[in-house]
Amino acid sequence: MVPQYERIEVPPDGEPVSVTDAAADELNVPDDPIVPIIYGDGTGTDIGPAAERVLGAAAEATGREIHWMRVYAGESARERYGENLPAETLSALSEFRVGLKGPLTTPVGAGFRSLNVALRRELDLYANVRPAYYIDGLPSPRHDPEEMDVVVFRENTEDVYAGIEWEEDTADVERVREFVEEEMGYDDMIHDGPVGIGVKPVSEFGTKRLVRRAIDYALERDRDSVTLVHKGNIMKFTEGGFRDWGYEVAEAEYGDEVITEDTLWQERDGEPPEDAVVVNDRIADNMLQQLLTRTDEYDVLAMPNLNGDYLSDAAGAQLGSLGVPPGANVGDGRMLAEPVHGSTPKYAGQNKVNPTAMILSGRLLFEYLGWEDASEVVLEALRAQISSGRVTYDIERHLDDGERLGTSEFATEVADRIRASP
Ligand code: NAP
Repeated sequence: MVPQYERIEVPPDGEPVSVTDAAADELNVPDDPIVPIIYGDGTGTDIGPAAERVLGAAAEATGREIHWMRVYAGESARERYGENLPAETLSALSEFRVGLKGPLTTPVGAGFRSLNVALRRELDLYANVRPAYYIDGLPSPRHDPEEMDVVVFRENTEDVYAGIEWEEDTADVERVREFVEEEMGYDDMIHDGPVGIGVKPVSEFGTKRLVRRAIDYALERDRDSVTLVHKGNIMKFTEGGFRDWGYEVAEAEYGDEVITEDTLWQERDGEPPEDAVVVNDRIADNMLQQLLTRTDEYDVLAMPNLNGDYLSDAAGAQLGSLGVPPGANVGDGRMLAEPVHGSTPKYAGQNKVNPTAMILSGRLLFEYLGWEDASEVVLEALRAQISSGRVTYDIERHLDDGERLGTSEFATEVADRIRASP
């Protein structure tokens, strides 16, 4: 049965994706799925329709049809309903199982809390998956950009992003200060005067389900290694816990399929068994430089929330533009794909920005649905388009003889390539 809503228009045709085993992501995927889409704030209204065009063409080219269903969050929801994140939007994303979303603006310092964080928490989309891979023709600042092919698994529900924090000069923050100093014995650790205090929860449960997803992904996709990225040397019981629980999953749950780097050296002189995934760990600051200097040694990277936010942007920047790296928020039997980049309000409505990240996020959606052929069609067309030099401003400005296209023209040309391909 197709769910109906009071304030959201459900397309008259198409079927919802349903789930047979949520924990295993086993889905019933019709050839004509209804897919909720949030265009988002700022440049979201530029890249949303552009992505629909390209992804729709790829679905058609592989014998399918997507029925897009507009749902609202952020500014568009405030305009329509007078609220930031309507309950219907959450219900639709939950009941239709998959979705695509553009960026949502979050005010700094004051105002409402991040709607992105709220969406991920409310839908329990606990893994933020952010691949960074090179596409020919991108003006990467690296001299060997084809070596960049990593997938960040960022924990999405915990860490300092949980939003447990207290504002300066409030009774609450003074109670927390008193508790920390007097009851917990951290006397003289907090400077006198106004202070904001936040809490950083990192749990065994949250860590293990994230690391499990990263290892499963590495095994399914024939990747060589999973690296746990943490600051456990400084934050021993949170990031250190992440590292230890991550190794526990690797050692307890995968038998011969997974081997730790220590065991590899102790027992096999560094030679991994065929088809096994190697699990190792790196301290986050070291990882940021290794990602630049020894990129080809890394594959799948699993880490707590804040590290993941920084590191995935840094990885994406190595591709040449933040208009390129895609992402997906994944839970058990549920996913919401979204680009890594934000809403860039200064370019909103100018038909200027690059829709590639939104389109590539659609590729992640396709892969989640098991549409590997459609995913490949999208990549091939983007490759051809970017290599042609007919690209948006962010790429064109680094090319000697490129031609600048608007968001819409770029997407139309990519969709035309898909339709013209055999
Ligand atoms: P941003 O929107 O990602 O923009 C930073 C810069 O990245 C832009 O000025 C632009 O660089 C480049 N860029 C971003 N998107 C691009 C695209 N599609 N094509 C080409 N270039 C692109 O980051 P921000 O300015 O820090 O954040 C703006 C708002 O977005 C904030 O409210 C933030 O909270 C929110 N945000 C939302 C999400 C999300 O919804 N998931 C994620 C991150 C940030 P140039 O100007 O140099 O060309």
